[in-house]
Amino acid sequence: MRKPLIAGNWKMNKTIGESVDFVENLRTEIAGVENAEVIVCPPYLAAHEVARRVGGTNIGVAVQDVFWKEQGAYTSQVAPKMALDAGATYAIIGHSETRGRFGKEDMTPAQFAYFAESDETVNAKVHECLAVGLKPIMCCGETIDERKADRTDEVIKAQVENGLKGLTTEQAAGMVIAYEPVWAIGTGEVCDTPEANRVCGMIRGTVASLFGDAAAQSVRIQYGGSVKPDNAAELLSQSDIDGALVGGASLKVADFAAIIKSV
Ligand code: PEP
Repeated sequence: MRKPLIAGNWKMNKTIGESVDFVENLRTEIAGVENAEVIVCPPYLAAHEVARRVGGTNIGVAVQDVFWKEQGAYTSQVAPKMALDAGATYAIIGHSETRGRFGKEDMTPAQFAYFAESDETVNAKVHECLAVGLKPIMCCGETIDERKADRTDEVIKAQVENGLKGLTTEQAAGMVIAYEPVWAIGTGEVCDTPEANRVCGMIRGTVASLFGDAAAQSVRIQYGGSVKPDNAAELLSQSDIDGALVGGASLKVADFAAIIKSV
């Protein structure tokens, strides 16, 4: 039995005070919810205080990224063990916004190049998280051009294979993978439910071919991309969708709580 994981990715939103207010309200709204695991992903600077406030509740904390080294001269970076020390138990890795796959029109090429994550850095981050006991939520997703060119499965398969490279079967079995079609993120355009479930099933098949059926049955695969209160129940009832990675709709307590309760 895979317990659905509902994660709210706040991206570059919310001060420490706003983050604390949010979780104080959310804890009341979802008190007693046990059929889903719930995490919020605040900006780094709020993660510690949020983790302190949700102690003893059914809400956990994730960071939105990590670096792949344990420590050292890596200005601006955060090591997985620092995230763990701050109270996070999960880390998002390889989000399309850190992979630079979102195609923002309001950036110059030099600015855009800042978002330069690759399958190789994703894989290094996954390994460092697992080495210290932080659970990775590894994102994958195709762009609209890749989908139109019928390359969705090939792109997703490569991201999953490369991201999971070198893991043990046990490590792979404990992974969370988020399928997030890039064209559905923050656009209001949700992937059709049967298609989202098909791709999540294809990801599970890829895990099975690499690590065996038992690992594939235990890995949790989330869908992400314009999940809202009115489409969550349908998406979350699918056989291969084990939760949601929610962006915009996780910024309001009422919306996020409604998504959690639709599990
Ligand atoms: C995301 O950023 O992971 C995401 C799915 O965003 P949204 O829900 O806003 O599409």
